[in-house]
Amino acid sequence: MKTETKCIHAGYAPANTEPRVKPIVQSTTYVFDSAADIGAVFDDPTKALIYSRFANPTVMAVEDKIAALEGGAGAMCTSSGQAATLLAILNLCSAGDHLVCTSSVYGGTLNLLSFTFRRLGIECSFVDARAPEAELDAAMRPNTKLVFGESIANPSLVVLDFEKLARVAHRHGVPLIVDNTIATPALCRPFEHGADIIVHSTSKYMDGHALQVGGAIVDSGKFDWAAGGRFPGLTEPDESYHGVVYTEVYGNLAYIIKARMQLMRDFGCYPSAHSAFLLNLGLDTLAVRMDRYCENALAVAQYFEKHPKVESVTYPGLPGARDYALCQKYTGGRASAIIALTLRGGKDAAVRFMDSLRLAHNEIHLADICTSVLHPATSTHRQLNEAQQRAAGVDPSMIRFSVGLEHIDDILADIEQAFAK
Ligand code: PLP
Repeated sequence: MKTETKCIHAGYAPANTEPRVKPIVQSTTYVFDSAADIGAVFDDPTKALIYSRFANPTVMAVEDKIAALEGGAGAMCTSSGQAATLLAILNLCSAGDHLVCTSSVYGGTLNLLSFTFRRLGIECSFVDARAPEAELDAAMRPNTKLVFGESIANPSLVVLDFEKLARVAHRHGVPLIVDNTIATPALCRPFEHGADIIVHSTSKYMDGHALQVGGAIVDSGKFDWAAGGRFPGLTEPDESYHGVVYTEVYGNLAYIIKARMQLMRDFGCYPSAHSAFLLNLGLDTLAVRMDRYCENALAVAQYFEKHPKVESVTYPGLPGARDYALCQKYTGGRASAIIALTLRGGKDAAVRFMDSLRLAHNEIHLADICTSVLHPATSTHRQLNEAQQRAAGVDPSMIRFSVGLEHIDDILADIEQAFAK
């Protein structure tokens, strides 16, 4: 099936007389004929549903849809994108371990890796995504467990050179984990370019309507966890699960099943059935919405590029953009709908412009159907100093402009009236 079709049909195939729409299974628990039946499921929790802290039929249908869209072997939804990043990394890293992450990733990820992970004894080295391979190699250590990057980074819009990052990660025997939130599988499929694990904030384009926060982890099923001996959590007995060895029992699903059986069981950040039902509605139309987002955003970026009050525009779909070639290579030139810009009047003019917009809202959120704007330096990246902000691709006067699905004439008219003010 093509992406548009998977958006609608993957994950649920109703049988004769069953509901056309996957129902909301609003139940915390599941009943069994006997105590022995329940005991048997605790021996292998993949055999039946036990409890909605880590598995629920409505959520699982969405997990299957997201796995199909990314071309993965399996997926697990989480209650936020932040929880997806947290669990995806904790599934491989313990105290004493190290990871390498590109410095342009989302501000919440930077905070998590810089501060909270340090408190947990996990160290992160930040690297420039554009650095030459030898420099990236130099950041890898014997205790490095993974490399992390973002396909189109929020808000710097650096496009990840997947093949380069995957080469570095694989040369050192570790997986590449990619946050594919801004590109979505409708524009870019990281597994086809060497990524091993994908995380999403489904709160963004996947949900698409600013209805609920959510996340997902997708496993390509292709990484060989046993090859280098670096992942005892997957290849040696799990004492918290009667000695199961995930790679032996679950084969290419070892990573994603461990994430559910061990981490979701312990942390319990699973979405509700109702949230998954709403997310599924968003996913139904993801591909067609992404087409219009890209069309609108390119028109807005071209408009900004010609405007005398604009100092700089970053949009990887513009022919002059620094990452234009990477965008052509990995997304077919479709650059999603986030634009970063600075105005000639600097930060003051930026704030005045943002506050003068009438149609577009000031929002912390992005990737909504509504056009929205944010000043990252005083919001998502507020906890970083100016040098750290610049390393993350955030200029102190930068505006993050998230183009919505309103008619392009109305979006441009709103921008023009705000510039006039
Ligand atoms: N990844 C990216 C690229 C994001 O933009 C965000 C949130 O803005 C997250 C992860 C975190 O997701 P959530 O807000 O759903 O926890």
